[in-house]
Amino acid sequence: MNRPRHPDKEVEEAVRQAEALGWTWRPQGHWGRLYCPRHDREGCQIGVNGTPRNAGNHARQILRAINRCPHGAGERDDGDV
Ligand SMILES: [Zn+2]
Repeated sequence: MNRPRHPDKEVEEAVRQAEALGWTWRPQGHWGRLYCPRHDREGCQIGVNGTPRNAGNHARQILRAINRCPHGAGERDDGDV
């Protein structure tokens, strides 16, 4: 998927980190949405705003979602979530 660069540097950085960890970006809403490596309804996702009011906070929000995600690429967790 060809992802447009996010206009904010911090958010772009967070999105890149997500992608490096196997998250997938899809266009949706005001900019896009990130889906964790687990592509089913148990997987995590986070909306990314193209024009967040507070970009620093938004970037941290994205990083938090990445950190919270127990579904790392290559790992299988079919048990409790
Ligand atoms: Zn996840």
